[in-house]
Amino acid sequence: MKKIPFLTVKKAEEIASKFGTPFHVYDEAGIRRNAKAVADAFSWNKGFKEYFAVKATPNPFILRIFKDYGFGCDCSSMAELKMAYAAGFSNDEIMFSSNDTPAEEYVYAAKIGALMNFDDITMLPYYLEHVGDFPETVCCRYNPGGTFSISNDIMDNPGDSKYGMTPEQMIEAFRMLKAHGVRRFGIHAFLASNTVTDDYYPTLAGQLFELAAELKKKCHVDIDFINLSGGVGIPYRPDQEPNHIDRIGAGVRAEYEKILIPAGMDNVKIYTEMGRFMLGPYGALVTRAIHEKHIYKEYIGVDACAANLMRPAMYGSYHHISVLGKEDYPDDHRYDVTGSLCENNDKFAIDRLLPKIDMGDLLYIHDTGAHGFAMGYNYNGRLWSAEVLLHEDGSFSLIRRAQTLADYFATFDCFEEYKNMEDA
Ligand SMILES: *Cc1c(COP(=O)(O)O)cnc(C)c1O
Repeated sequence: MKKIPFLTVKKAEEIASKFGTPFHVYDEAGIRRNAKAVADAFSWNKGFKEYFAVKATPNPFILRIFKDYGFGCDCSSMAELKMAYAAGFSNDEIMFSSNDTPAEEYVYAAKIGALMNFDDITMLPYYLEHVGDFPETVCCRYNPGGTFSISNDIMDNPGDSKYGMTPEQMIEAFRMLKAHGVRRFGIHAFLASNTVTDDYYPTLAGQLFELAAELKKKCHVDIDFINLSGGVGIPYRPDQEPNHIDRIGAGVRAEYEKILIPAGMDNVKIYTEMGRFMLGPYGALVTRAIHEKHIYKEYIGVDACAANLMRPAMYGSYHHISVLGKEDYPDDHRYDVTGSLCENNDKFAIDRLLPKIDMGDLLYIHDTGAHGFAMGYNYNGRLWSAEVLLHEDGSFSLIRRAQTLADYFATFDCFEEYKNMEDA
């Protein structure tokens, strides 16, 4: 499917004239349309809740949008917990799906009433020792080991992943929690990432529903919810078929009716913790072409770098690029599109066919709404860009200013000439 930018060159220049380049921009209309589609796809389940994975796009303005759909936040660190709380989420609107968790984070999560999702059985005595009694509802994270396949395709390797508990540990954990007064239980698993197939959630749900029925029988516990976590992917490449959230919702429902209803478990709530699917396509990184270089290959240097979008450098990920205003020009030039880091993997595209790029053109890097800005870092002293929210009426607002050198130097306040660094 042809990938089309959600903003025009005119709008992009308007934003650039106010906030400079590069910037990350988010499409509120798209976010809302998709959020509604998610809510509709699971409306057959009374207690359904999507807990947006804050780590994908940690911005309180974005989190707030999801409040309108009855969604919550999935957090895994102190900063994420505090951000979610400040954005107006508390109690069962916050899922704390952490791992290797420091005690103070559990203490804070307990204080704001977050739902605890324990990654490991050793976390239970740790919690008792450092925090206190368990809440009434507790979730445990499951890892079936081995490989996770759909039909005959291996999707991922849970056996190699650090997360979750073995089936035996799940039983032991539930018994232990029950003995300590826990009344309601949740089950969580994240077994494959960025799945571009409508079968991921239904397949995972089938496995978790079977496990839920078994745990109910063996441990005599009430299963309150099943958390399908994240992993629903997006089509980064134009030739990929997008997921259909309505079919995914219907697929989970079919498993629910096949397994949970006959087991007398028709009150179980379905939770999700999607990040990428909720925001990925509704964010873009806009950057200006500032240099061209002709050596053994043709290079276009832009004013963004891997510090603003790490996925291509880190995973070799494909991100589609449009040259704004030249969407209908032929892709007849072959370029490497690079940032300025002193690292040869700082390339947004390699050997990519694009329209002829002139200096000053704005490049629109698609699908950076999730795990984009969020993974930013400061290597080479490169700074984070601004984040801008494009509203449904075409107006836009700054939802995070760009980092400044003063921000970068701030942690050197132990250095005597610190003030001079900022003012130099
Ligand atoms: C990263 C993560 C998510 C979100 O994953 P996506 O692939 O962005 O949907 C959800 N839950 C947990 C525990 C995670 O670590």
